[in-house]
Parts: sequence; C-alpha cells; structure tokens
Amino acid sequence: YADSALFHAKHLGRNNFQFYSADLTIKAAERREVETNLRFALKKEEFLLHYQPLVDLATREIIGAEALLRWQHESGKLIMPDKFIGIAEETGLIIPIGEWVMRSACQVAVALNRGRPRPVTVAVNLSTRQFLHNDLVSSIQAILAETGCHTDWIKLEITESLLLENTDNIQRMLQSLSAMGLCISIDDFGTGYSALSYLHRFPVRELKIDRSFTSDITDNAERALIVQAIVSLARNLNKNVVAEGVETLEQADYLHKMGCPQAQGYLFSKPLPLEQFLALLG
Ligand code: C2E
Ligand code: MG
Ligand code: MG
Ligand code: MG
Repeated sequence: YADSALFHAKHLGRNNFQFYSADLTIKAAERREVETNLRFALKKEEFLLHYQPLVDLATREIIGAEALLRWQHESGKLIMPDKFIGIAEETGLIIPIGEWVMRSACQVAVALNRGRPRPVTVAVNLSTRQFLHNDLVSSIQAILAETGCHTDWIKLEITESLLLENTDNIQRMLQSLSAMGLCISIDDFGTGYSALSYLHRFPVRELKIDRSFTSDITDNAERALIVQAIVSLARNLNKNVVAEGVETLEQADYLHKMGCPQAQGYLFSKPLPLEQFLALLG
C-alpha cells in the first residue's frame, strides 16, 4: 500500500505530493490494522449473521431470509460488511470468512426447515474472489454434507461482475453448483454492466432488483418502467425475481401489481439477529 501511495503521488504533481501521499499512507495503515483485526476476529469467532426476511408479495408471508454478515468487535461495536468485506477480499481472508458464513447459514437452514412442509430458503452472498479459489465447489459440497443441508434451502447470491469475468472456469463452477440443485441468484441486478446475453449462458435462476430501482418507483415513471421491464424479462425467461429495498407499503403494492412475486426491505423487516428472525417466522 505504501508503494501504491507513492505511485499515485508521483502522478499528481509537486503541489499535491505531500497531501496525497500522507492521506494514502494513513489509509494504508488503517487497512493493515483492519486486516490484522479480521484475522483475530475469525479466530475469536466475532462474526455473526443477521437474517433479513424474504416475503411473498401475494400473501405477505415470510418464505426465507438473506444471511448478512456482521462483525461484533470486542469494543462492543457492531461493524457492517461495507466496512470490511473489501479488505477481506483484497487479503484473501474472504475465503475462510466465506466458509464460516456458508457453514453457519447451512446450520440455520437445517434448523429452520425442521418439520416445515414448504422450504424456507437462506440466501448467502458470495464474492467474486471466492470463485477465483478453485476449492469453492467442493467446499460448499462438503459443508452441505457435513450440516445435512438440502440444496433447496440455500440460494447463492452473486453479482454481475462475476459473470463479466466470463472464464470457462467460472462458468463450470456455476454449472456444478446449479447441477447440485442450488439456486443461483444475481444480486443488485441492474447496477452492473448488464449484458443480457449472460442470462442464458449462465445457470441463473433468480434476479434481485437493486434497491436503487425500487426506491423511487412510485414517483419516478422512468424507474417504474425499468422495474416493470426487469420483472417481465425475468418472468418470460422463467426466472424468479425479488425486489430489494422495499420501504413503503405503496412500493410493495405497486411491485405486486407489476407481477413481482417476492420482496425484501425495511417495510417488512431490517436484518435481524437469529432469535428475533425465528420469533418473526413463528
Ligand atoms: P446486499 O447483498 O445487496 O444486501 C442488501 C443490503 O441492503 C444489506 O446491507 C441490507 O441491510 C440493506 N437493506 C435491506 N433492505 C433495505 C431497505 O429497505 N432500505 C435500505 N436502505 N437498505 C436495505 P448490509 O447488511 O449492510 O450488507 C451490505 C452488502 O455487504 C451486501 O449487499 C453484500 O453485498 C455484502 N455482504 C453482506 N454479507 C456478506 C457475506 O456474508 N459475504 C459477502 N461476500 N458479502 C456480504
Ligand atoms: Mg445480497
Ligand atoms: Mg443487493
Ligand atoms: Mg450488494
């Protein structure tokens, strides 16, 4: 990081040198500290998952959850993923952290589905970096077997950027995961460099419409048309579609009228600690 700070500084000209150099060096030190702390966090089991309900828009029943990573720092502070996932990816720590997330989510999925007639799904977020590690498929397979988790209970959320990597290896990994029976879902749909051609090249079963599109459908006609187009596209391609970030009843009703079957968002619930999610699920 120190090297890259100097690299940038050199290209900024004399006047900017000191300011940018100092600024980036502080950032680099901070990053190294976070990295060290992340290693400890993993050892001391400071990670936990919160669960945000996935709701059927027709019945308003909870039919699943998305597992979202949190870091309970020893200082007592609960740290959100946007603060540390990037560093975990850069340092490779996302591999053991990701395995921990998958194992925890599978254990919970098993408990949730005990004695339930219809499957309750748990969605797990995967970083592109995890796919660059060749053991991903066998690691997921091992965790499913070890926990006794059925593939119907787990969804894997990936981003459009993964599909843009477009290597044979990633295509093969996604095919294997899909063939095992896991649902592959595209998170934040519409925010990446969407190339619609990948929708038939990759075994994608679900689109999650990004919050930025749902947030103003009720007062922005253009946004509403985009959401309607994504919903129609998904339905015509026989894929499930979930609206993310639903905050008002108006938005939920509108999405339902558009033919969007499922949603997540603060209207229904924010992500909850496991016990609270279980209580809500009933
Ligand atoms: P995401 O997968 O798109 O998750 C949705 C984010 O939107 C969550 O933020 C959630 O709390 C928030 N959200 C849900 N409903 C609403 C709403 O109605 N309004 C607003 N304003 N926000 C809402 P969170 O938990 O901070 O997670 C941020 C991102 O971190 C996630 O985005 C995901 O990309 C990443 N992430 C979380 N857990 C993991 C993990 O276990 N592994 C990896 N690789 N990434 C993770
Ligand atoms: Mg997600
Ligand atoms: Mg998302
Ligand atoms: Mg995201």
